[in-house]
Amino acid sequence: MSESIPFTRPTLDEQTIADVAEVLRSGWITSGPKVRAFEAALSEYFGGRRVRAFNSGTATLEVALAMLGIGAGAEVITTPLTWVATANVIVRAGARPVFVDVDPRTRNIDVERIAAAVTPATRAILPVDLAGLPVDRDRLYALAAGHGLRVVEDAAQSMGASWNGRRLGSFGDYVSFSFHANKNMTTAEGGCLVLPADADAALCERMRLQGVARDADGGMDVDVFGGKFNLTDLAAAIGLNQLRHIDAFNARRRELARRYLDQLAEAAPRLGLELPPGDFSQSNWHMFQVCLPLDRLTLTRGDFIRAMAAEGIAVGVHYPALHLFTAYRALGFVPGSFPHAERIGREIVTLPMFPALREDQVDRVCHTMIDILTRHRA
Ligand SMILES: *Cc1c(COP(=O)(O)O)cnc(C)c1O
Repeated sequence: MSESIPFTRPTLDEQTIADVAEVLRSGWITSGPKVRAFEAALSEYFGGRRVRAFNSGTATLEVALAMLGIGAGAEVITTPLTWVATANVIVRAGARPVFVDVDPRTRNIDVERIAAAVTPATRAILPVDLAGLPVDRDRLYALAAGHGLRVVEDAAQSMGASWNGRRLGSFGDYVSFSFHANKNMTTAEGGCLVLPADADAALCERMRLQGVARDADGGMDVDVFGGKFNLTDLAAAIGLNQLRHIDAFNARRRELARRYLDQLAEAAPRLGLELPPGDFSQSNWHMFQVCLPLDRLTLTRGDFIRAMAAEGIAVGVHYPALHLFTAYRALGFVPGSFPHAERIGREIVTLPMFPALREDQVDRVCHTMIDILTRHRA
């Protein structure tokens, strides 16, 4: 049996292990000097903007919505084709998610269709750069300005990606990143929030930790109901190392994506396999995803995933259209509302993609997939 290939795997070096060990020995393992150093390094990475670190990407989204005062009666426009966290935070804030179907080519929210979804209750747009492919920021911000809407960018998957030569996070309104273990850079669990100029950074810090403000005499006050969202110094030590490598990691992912597209170029049209757009300047290639031509195959997506697994290749699904989950149907969402997201959600699979993946492994993934699809043509 040939070696097995995971669909993702973090790249962690000996320096990271040594730095985490140093934090463990220091006697201060939760939020402290490493978090402050990590925030300073992130701020530099994002062109000097103010950045606060959190214990998850989800937490940054919750805090951004809270800072904007988004709650009961508000609507937030987002995509139905994303990790469910994107929409869960809207519901948990007490607001209503309003979904707009995706552009089938980019698989991202179709910016052209957003205006039709705006109502007097709309407060914000929450776009997602699926797989690291950026949503068109020019059209997005023109639209937001035109309707007086705030933007909370869910850039969980697009750390290090750019739009028109500008790094995501270095411009825009609230910008949220995740450092979950599967993202392009990780702190095991974690995230950061880039704040717009009009945001109150001190309020952001109180929202992050129980609303507590301390005074110089050792006393404290609580003026908001904050949560428990602070990052640990252990995690920040990992993050400081990851941040040094993020651009190299992403460059490697771009090479691998190019290899995938080259290897699949001939077979894709013949088999009806839908490839992602070949963006090698802006995307960070968080994932390499294809849509299976299920109506031309005698196997299901589950059968395909099992057939790949039998060859030692892990394949993921990111994501089913989320408005069809039980909890969302209970809010009144029904099948047929967002046909592109629903079709892509049924057909999409994520192939292995991570910096340590080798060219010969990409070739093996492609040959194995082409072979399985060819043998199961209807
Ligand atoms: C990973 C992810 C999140 C949440 O990040 P966590 O760090 O896991 O909380 C939110 N949105 C999208 C699109 C993600 O991929």
